[in-house]
Amino acid sequence: MSAPDPPRIGLGWDRHRLEPGRPCVLGGLEIDSPLGPAAHSDGDALLHALTDALLGAAGEPDLGSLFPDSDPAWKDAPSTRFLEEALRRLRARGLEPWSADLVVVCDRPRLAPHRDRLRRALAALLGLPVDRVNLKGKSTEGGPGGDRIEVTAVVLAGPAA
Ligand code: MG
Repeated sequence: MSAPDPPRIGLGWDRHRLEPGRPCVLGGLEIDSPLGPAAHSDGDALLHALTDALLGAAGEPDLGSLFPDSDPAWKDAPSTRFLEEALRRLRARGLEPWSADLVVVCDRPRLAPHRDRLRRALAALLGLPVDRVNLKGKSTEGGPGGDRIEVTAVVLAGPAA
């Protein structure tokens, strides 16, 4: 009998410029904010980073290769579709997400009032208990480059139980 596959780690990163008058979708939820991401899809930086982390753990191509922004099929697409496809590919390899951790860098909107709701939403999308998914907000104290959101995500995945 062969040994079980070892766990695998995946890393994802995303950044979007934020502009007035765009809906602000994060973790598949609409957040009350005067600013939202400029993007071809819904610009959900949280799900884009998380999707790339899942694809990384699965040893699959990245988000931009699977869902190119030159393809009109993905215009204004909900990013939950990208995440679901990444999960499908991970599970096709006999793997499940075990835990995820994310860092969100953003000055406006502030993440803190939404943190618990976002954490629960991400856990539900991944099929994990909330204590296996964490989310930290950081501000830049008004750094250069204007308003933007930047997300780094790591996922640990391993054989399905
Ligand atoms: Mg993106």
